[in-house]
Amino acid sequence: MQAAVLESPGSMVLVDHADPADPGPGEVLVAVRRVGICGTDHHAYRGMQNFFVYPRVLGHELAVEVLAVGAGETRLRPGDLCAVLPYVSCGTCYGCQRGRANCCDRIDVMGVTRDGGLRERMVVPASHLFTDPDLTLDQLVLVETLGVGWHAVARAQPQPDDSVLVLGGGPIGLAVAQAARAKVDLLVVADVSADRVAFADASGHDSLLVDRDFEERLLDHNGGLLPSMVFDATGSRASMENAFALTGSCGTLVFVGHTTESIRFENPSFHARELDLRASRNATVADWTEVISAARDRTLDALGWVNHRTTLAGIVDELPGLAADPGRVVKTVVDLDGDPT
Ligand SMILES: [Zn+2]
Ligand SMILES: [Zn+2]
Repeated sequence: MQAAVLESPGSMVLVDHADPADPGPGEVLVAVRRVGICGTDHHAYRGMQNFFVYPRVLGHELAVEVLAVGAGETRLRPGDLCAVLPYVSCGTCYGCQRGRANCCDRIDVMGVTRDGGLRERMVVPASHLFTDPDLTLDQLVLVETLGVGWHAVARAQPQPDDSVLVLGGGPIGLAVAQAARAKVDLLVVADVSADRVAFADASGHDSLLVDRDFEERLLDHNGGLLPSMVFDATGSRASMENAFALTGSCGTLVFVGHTTESIRFENPSFHARELDLRASRNATVADWTEVISAARDRTLDALGWVNHRTTLAGIVDELPGLAADPGRVVKTVVDLDGDPT
């Protein structure tokens, strides 16, 4: 079978890959049908991704079809369409014991620290497959991205009187905005890219371009107050450092994106305003369950984000261009079978 392998930064190739072994107990053999491409893949291609190990089959946003189940598996059947929770945790560390397997000490992430889904077939733990008969492959492939947004909002627990600023209008920022907008009245998405601002606007969010007088326009939008809750989904050190000054008194700043660089901030103003600073990593099963039920109830529809589709061979050619100019598309989906469902 074919697989797209990132051999080292800047070098992705299509290779003949060994077929996976038969699924053992607790495992499932799946055909990969859709793979979402995101900033993690771009950063891995450019050699800028935290926690990444080469060579690697990329692909952590997966919609798959069950082909065969291992002994003892009764929940799943061949033909079931599933999203794949790509985070494999140990179950025994402090985080896992506290229900925070998303930041397990020994976490293994498909497509990052173990091989992912840019290949025709793979074996995955049955416990990591989320199926819903009402969801299409395109809905299922977006669950991972949305889960990251849902988790960030769960980390911050906004109340109705919070005002939210989401920095970064890419898929993660849009996922945060989707998750938060049901909980607060005042929410704005901001980005340095006019295209992304226009897309966020068209998706129904108030949006602002980050340029010279951004802070003034933000204050205008928020009735003269800085937002009480800021989510930075840019992965940009400059934006993350500046986000401290954009968070209002007693407010909460959540870093959803991350960078390999150090972050500096002015302690006096951080201390004076008694800010809460939180990291948000990956997502939990609870976040996934909420995303799937919101997609099923149609209170969430992110299908319009997919504005570029390609094939397994196509992504090998196109990833360099996508990584160099990530603002060009909102969400790329690799379609491994050409089936439009
Ligand atoms: Zn992703
Ligand atoms: Zn663990």
